[in-house]
Amino acid sequence: MTHIAFIGLGNMGIGMAANLAKAGHEVRALDLSKDAVSRAVELGCTAAKNAQDAVETADVVITMLPAGAHVKLVYGGEDGVFRYAKANSLMIDCSTIDVASAREVIASAQHKGFEMIDAPVSGGVGGAQAGTLTFMCGGTQQAYGRAKPFLDIMGANTFHAGDAGNGQAAKICNNMLLGIHMIGTCEAFNLAEKLGLDAQTFYDISSTASGQNWSMTSYCPAPGPLPSSPANHDYKAGFSAAMMLKDLRLAQEAATSARAATPLGTQSEAMYSLMEAAGKDGLDFSGVMKLINGSLHDLDN
Ligand code: NAD
Repeated sequence: MTHIAFIGLGNMGIGMAANLAKAGHEVRALDLSKDAVSRAVELGCTAAKNAQDAVETADVVITMLPAGAHVKLVYGGEDGVFRYAKANSLMIDCSTIDVASAREVIASAQHKGFEMIDAPVSGGVGGAQAGTLTFMCGGTQQAYGRAKPFLDIMGANTFHAGDAGNGQAAKICNNMLLGIHMIGTCEAFNLAEKLGLDAQTFYDISSTASGQNWSMTSYCPAPGPLPSSPANHDYKAGFSAAMMLKDLRLAQEAATSARAATPLGTQSEAMYSLMEAAGKDGLDFSGVMKLINGSLHDLDN
């Protein structure tokens, strides 16, 4: 049994913390929300009053927070993790944040003598509950090796993507590609319909031809072909347009600092910004189909 501090018990963190407790670890749970901490206690964790209480006896500290500013504050703030953590404790940040902040916080951890990795996830709330997440990790081989047994409890796949920040790089590059091919898939289905080709017929052809892609065959944005896809359930999220926009903004920030040309990534960010401006970013990200075919306002957010 390992003593683990888990900070950030939102949609994702609660399931991850519960799975660690279920595996027999002593999990000290901390969140700004008292309700979230109570839920974690019901699921087998113990409540921590503050960062000191959470981390001072922990061998491993795991965070699952909204954005880079929260991660910097939780680790490096005046009453943060770095101040109270045990010597030699391992730190794992699973939040999706900007690459620069991830590298800065990990460098700061190393400066203070701690090992730390960035380990953002894909797999959503369902994956967090089921323990089937995919982790994309950045950091030293040694820190990754120490983290892996815990990641294996919370996930089905883990990848070591290289040095600090490379987990975040893998995550935002993947999600930028996902945003781009989702929008392209929507455009193709919309054009097919306007040309008199029904969605099922186009799907049958294109899913076995060179236009095939994950957004089409696993998450089809046109109603009909895939009964389980959000398109057949009023585009209820799933993975919300707001979450996609967050990742596309991180990708654009990274592209600007790396001076990488991402013209389609830029366009994708603009498309999802329009969903946000329309107040429809709570819909699934495949709901961009409704923006493209002009019927976005037919749906409740
Ligand atoms: P969430 O907003 O539901 O949870 C974040 C939690 O962090 C909240 O409970 C909040 O109270 C807590 N928090 C914020 N500041 C804190 C602080 N200073 N101290 C303690 N707790 C604090 O978010 P989520 O959906 O669980 O997502 C978490 C991260 O995972 C994000 O970076 C997100 O981009 C990423 N992610 C989410 C999904 C998804 O489907 N929800 C999928 C993959 C990755």
